[in-house]
Formats: sequence, structure tokens, C-alpha cells
Amino acid sequence: EAKSRSRGRLVVFAEEMDARYMERQRLKTDLRAAVERGEISVAYQPMFKPDGSALECCEALARWTHPEKGAIAPDIFIQIAEEMGIVSDITRQVIEKACRDCVKWPEHITVSVNLSVQDLRNELIINTVKSVLAETGLASHRLHLEVTESSLIEELSTVRLILEQLRSYGITIAIDDFGTGFSSLSYLDTLPVDVVKIDRSFVRNICEDVRRLKLLRGIVTLSRGLNLQIVVEGVETREQLALLIKHNCADLIQGYVYSMPVAAESIAEISQLASRKQFEARTYVA
Ligand code: C2E
Ligand code: MG
Ligand code: MG
Ligand code: MG
Repeated sequence: EAKSRSRGRLVVFAEEMDARYMERQRLKTDLRAAVERGEISVAYQPMFKPDGSALECCEALARWTHPEKGAIAPDIFIQIAEEMGIVSDITRQVIEKACRDCVKWPEHITVSVNLSVQDLRNELIINTVKSVLAETGLASHRLHLEVTESSLIEELSTVRLILEQLRSYGITIAIDDFGTGFSSLSYLDTLPVDVVKIDRSFVRNICEDVRRLKLLRGIVTLSRGLNLQIVVEGVETREQLALLIKHNCADLIQGYVYSMPVAAESIAEISQLASRKQFEARTYVA
């Protein structure tokens, strides 16, 4: 009896595995089709001067709305695209849209696009960027590219070559999710990097836990010592914002306290409000 019951559980388990596997296969098929049809859209999350007086840059964030399942988080579909080996197609679409949108914004605004670890394995990304800039007419200094800290553990010589080439065009390179990978501080000094985006995990408890604030301040001091610009990500509350300003921890702030990701069409208006000082924390929680 016990035996047949455990066999029953195994059957259920196998069926669940099957269902999950099928679901993932289905997502793969649908994602491939969506990418082929150019259905990946892009939302933009503004980065502001800490006091909110200027919108300086927008991060381009890929969006996919599945016909039945609705919005799928990029953390999920980017990983699937990486497994399928098609993430570079998404990168290209996002860079294209980002450049097309950015040329329509006020000239001081830059746009920042995420690269996948797979983009850094292949020099093709250099041509992609070059041709998109040429097609869209966006000035290269208005394009920023974000690479995650963890993707730098890859073939460092290839990564360095790619980043150096891109940077020689005038593109700004940012390290994303800084502090979450196996940060070896020594590479920060040797890679062609202009910006660090400090991961939101370093912000989360700064108001409650003075040790977290000290850690954040340490990272900031170190980054400033290397002449890097500092973006603090995931700032959610006015209290966090006030503390960051008090301790001069950020050159730019990105987070829900100022704005969620929004449509390209909203950026010019938000920028205008900011520069008229009519912009306040939480004005634009979408
Ligand atoms: P990321 O590059 O670190 O982007 C920031 C993520 O944090 C975004 O999530 C953003 O909506 C979210 N965020 C911003 N402010 C706050 C805040 O105050 N609180 C909290 N809790 N979250 C905040 P999203 O759009 O879901 O993207 C997740 C990740 O997916 C991105 O992290 C990035 O790694 C990846 N991703 C998104 N678009 C692309 C893309 O086009 N290409 C690649 N390779 N990866 C992408
Ligand atoms: Mg990013
Ligand atoms: Mg990030
Ligand atoms: Mg992240």
C-alpha cells in the first residue's frame, strides 16, 4: 500500500514536471515568435539629480506582453532568450527603439540600454551599436550601455575589447547591479567604465541599519576615488532619498520614489516639470 502511494506521488510529481516543462516550452515558442515580429516593447525609467531638479538619463527596460499570460517580467524572458540564444535579437530591438525615442527627447537626456552577458561574448554587438546609431542619427554620447557586474567574470579580454571599442565611439559604459556579483574591486580600475549603478539591495535598509548606510558610503567613496559617476538604484522612499542626499551618496537617483518606468511619450513632460522645479518625489508613481 505504501509503495503504491509513493508511486502515486511520483506520478503526480512527474505530471507537474511535465506541465512546467510544457509551459516553459510554450513560453519559448511564443517568445521566439514575439521577437521575430518585433513585439518587444520598451519602458523608460528616469534617473534624476538627487534633488529632483533634472531628468538626466532614462533606462530602457524591455517589456513583453504575452497574449494570454499578460506581462512577463524581463528577469524571466531575458533568461529564456539567453537559453535559446536569441537575446542579442532583443538587445538589438531595444537599442533601436531606445535610440529612436531618445532623438525625440530634449537634447540633454541620455538613454541607457542593458546588455546581456551573451552580447559581451561576441564582437557583433559593436556593429549592431554602430549601425543603429547611424540609422537613427542619435549622437553616440547620448547612448549608455549597462553591463552587469556578474557578466564581467566572463572572458575578460573579449569583454574589455568590446567595451573599449564601444567607448571609443563616445558611448558611456555603466556597471549594473554593482555590489551583487563577485565584485573584485581591482577590475573596476582596469575596465573602461564610467558609471556604477549601485544595486538596490544596498539601499533597502539604510534608514534602519546604520551598518548598511556605512557600507553604502564605503562603496560610494571607493567609486568616487576611481572617478566613476554614481547612480543609486531602487530608491523607494523619501526617507531613503533624504539620507542619500545628506551623505552625498549619489550623482543620480533611480527608483520608485521619483518614477516607475513610463512610456517614451511621457519623458519630455516629466523632464520639463523637473527643470521647472515642479517635480517632487512621488509625483510620477505610474
Ligand atoms: P536592472 O537593469 O537592474 O533594472 C532595474 C530594475 O529595477 C527594473 O526592473 C526596474 O523597474 C526596477 N526598479 C526600479 N526602481 C525600483 C525601486 O525603487 N524598487 C524596486 N523594487 N525595483 C525598482 P525590470 O524592468 O523588471 O527589469 C528587471 C531586470 O531585467 C533588469 O534589471 C535587467 O537586468 C533585465 N532587463 C530589463 N530589460 C532588459 C533588456 O533590454 N536587456 C537585458 N539584457 N536585460 C534587461
Ligand atoms: Mg540595468
Ligand atoms: Mg540595475
Ligand atoms: Mg537588477
